[in-house]
Amino acid sequence: MRELNVELGDRAYPIHIGSGLIDSDLLATVIRGRQVLVVTNESIAPLYLDRVVSALTDFDLATVILPDGESHKHIETLDRIFSEALTRRFSRNATMIALGGGVVGDMVGFAAATYQRGIDFIQIPTTLLSQVDSSRLGKNMIGAFHQPVAVFIDTDVLTTLPDKEMSAGMAEVIKYGLLGDHEFLAWIESNVDSLMAKDSEAISTAIERSCQMKADIVARDEREGGVRALLNLGHTFGHAIEAHLGYGGWLHGEAVGAGMVLAARLSQAMGMLSDADLARVIAVCERVVLPVEPPIGMTPDDFMKHMAVDKKNIDGRLRLVLMRSLGDAYVEDQAPSELLLDVLSACCR
Ligand code: MG
Repeated sequence: MRELNVELGDRAYPIHIGSGLIDSDLLATVIRGRQVLVVTNESIAPLYLDRVVSALTDFDLATVILPDGESHKHIETLDRIFSEALTRRFSRNATMIALGGGVVGDMVGFAAATYQRGIDFIQIPTTLLSQVDSSRLGKNMIGAFHQPVAVFIDTDVLTTLPDKEMSAGMAEVIKYGLLGDHEFLAWIESNVDSLMAKDSEAISTAIERSCQMKADIVARDEREGGVRALLNLGHTFGHAIEAHLGYGGWLHGEAVGAGMVLAARLSQAMGMLSDADLARVIAVCERVVLPVEPPIGMTPDDFMKHMAVDKKNIDGRLRLVLMRSLGDAYVEDQAPSELLLDVLSACCR
């Protein structure tokens, strides 16, 4: 097992990464009181809820099973968590456990931040994306800085993760290599088969490195400001794709995959990346089965329309995260719009 400490002063928390952690004895040791509410969803409950419950037999335990999916991320769903906690008369010493992906994690994070003015919560993320994202270090839905007391990342749960979601999670892993660590990128390229085979050692390394890089970047941002924007590599193009396709289109990670390739294409067109660099970006995305082209039918105008409203823009200039070289991203405040249009025109079908 690996342990990563997210340094946040008195809100610091450990991320435990390894095989078989979902019902680890460690889980009970980080719970302060007697009352525990485990929140999960309909897809995860039949697979893993019993195992988490079996690790917590000494507690006064309640469970809530939510419907699965982004479309259920709203106040009525949240109300089911509060209702259960209130019905069971859960006190300030109660702990909530989020067993699921990003939606469950966000909802429980919010519920725990607000119930009884804030109670402990534990994250057990079950998708690669939510595992890589588990050093969240920041705002949740209400902008509250309520951090988990611990995160348990069990790499075994990825065996039941749909292939598309595995690929989507890998987009964010690759992003860390491209934005700040050429060695990590090379490591991903050499270990891509083990990663896609969900080998626990390889996955643990990828998650640990990604979480560490995110934590470092956010810490640096507090001193320098703006560095955090690097985490958006591929995301401006990606968000345009997601906005264009609407709900139920590509997964976030799939859009980020195609978006990173577009960022690499523009970086190459601007003379920063070589042809070989660009080929590497495309190849690594293809090997984790991510799209490397925009969706069929999406035009350069569609991109420009959605990217123009991106919140990172200042005074109407297009801000994009680009690469000086592989593993060295920066924020370009004046992206050359003609070159960008050329790149988009060459890729859109
Ligand atoms: Mg993302």
